[in-house]
Amino acid sequence: MRFNEIFALEDIKKELLNGISKNRIAHSQIFTGPKGGPKLALALAYAQYINCLNKTEKDSCNTCDSCVKYSKLSHPDLHVIFPVVKISKCTRAVDYMPEWRNFFTTNIYSSLDEWSNFMGDKTSFIYTHEFTSTKECVDNSRLTLYNKLALKNFESKHRVVIIWGPEKMLKVASNKLLKFLEEPPDGTVFLLVSDETNSLLPTLTSRLQKSFIPKYTDEELLLFYNDKFGSDINGFSKKANGDISYLLSLNKSTEEADLLKDFTSWMRLCFKQDFQGLTNWASLISSQNTIYKKKLLGFSINTIRYSLINNFGNNKMLQTSNDEKEFVLKFSKFVNEENSIPLILEFEKSIQYLNRNINSKILFFELSLQVSKMLKIKSSVD
Ligand SMILES: [Zn+2]
Repeated sequence: MRFNEIFALEDIKKELLNGISKNRIAHSQIFTGPKGGPKLALALAYAQYINCLNKTEKDSCNTCDSCVKYSKLSHPDLHVIFPVVKISKCTRAVDYMPEWRNFFTTNIYSSLDEWSNFMGDKTSFIYTHEFTSTKECVDNSRLTLYNKLALKNFESKHRVVIIWGPEKMLKVASNKLLKFLEEPPDGTVFLLVSDETNSLLPTLTSRLQKSFIPKYTDEELLLFYNDKFGSDINGFSKKANGDISYLLSLNKSTEEADLLKDFTSWMRLCFKQDFQGLTNWASLISSQNTIYKKKLLGFSINTIRYSLINNFGNNKMLQTSNDEKEFVLKFSKFVNEENSIPLILEFEKSIQYLNRNINSKILFFELSLQVSKMLKIKSSVD
């Protein structure tokens, strides 16, 4: 993560860089501020920067050996811990690293609440043992942070431990963390990232150098939105109240609802073979931008897949919104082993055509004719 991948907040970045250039890299720091600011992303950019082998005044290079590993969040001297769903007494944050990497890289502004939703089971969403040695789990090559920090740094000058959401730690764990902060292992920098500093032990916060990361202003969010999605006709940038992650989720749920609405009416018209209706529908969709058209085709492919999964009796596996799930339950009656692959291939082919600047009204109309035919194909198993 580079500083320039994070939207705006130039003054904050400058302040952080200033401290580093004066060689003031405190061993125990906290990135704090209201929910919605890019604290975790900034902590990662900071960690990458201090370890970059070819840094400029303003940013890390993103190409040196250290940066390449950092950009994949897989540097051996980077440790990120966060609350997870504890399955056994040997569960560690590191067990969820692939999911977490995917989660964070999909949205670098993600909040801890979103991570908790992603994990699902809220009752056991906690910090697992990290600050003690648990010998019975060591054999599984799943060392605790305690064990790892007893070893020397692998290759970098600054080993970085990022602790996301330390306010979720139990008091026992906080006290153990405090011991580390009192006597940090050589070459180790702790970066805590928290929305709720008031919930932390005062003895802990008093040891930490604080960097305050504000929320965004309405004007900043409007710029961000315009740049990413075009005109903010729904006024989301104001509704988000400075929380960039919430802004993205508002946009996402509106877009998902639009996709479902457009796909539902399309399939109804196809099934009825209402060609006048399909002409009007194709005309309406062709007036949307290309990104939306591709998303609609991607959504169509996913819905066919979900319908198949549902037909195989695995509807618990459906990663869809409730409205979409309801639609899939009805729609899956028309999807079977005979027509699913041809349908997916037609949608995929149309995505390719869109890349070639083809007349999309004709494209969607012709695709509709194919889909109308394919939806009538019956399963050979029934
Ligand atoms: Zn670099």
